[in-house]
Amino acid sequence: MSETNCPLCGSQSFYVKDAEDEYEIYEFDLKGGEIVFTPEAGTSELPEVGGDTETFCNRCAWHGNLKSLRR
Ligand SMILES: [Zn+2]
Repeated sequence: MSETNCPLCGSQSFYVKDAEDEYEIYEFDLKGGEIVFTPEAGTSELPEVGGDTETFCNRCAWHGNLKSLRR
């Protein structure tokens, strides 16, 4: 069991951008290292999020690969 937090602010709230539309974002929380999309993200077209997916913190300027969050 590992907690996954933003290395800068400790937030567990992140988002990823749509690969084809950078203005389309999908917010999710990392709960116990698991990706839990917020209800607002919808259920129809959720993106593939893997270790190499560029991930942005919801609360600060941090961004990087999702796998760099997992310790
Ligand atoms: Zn942050």
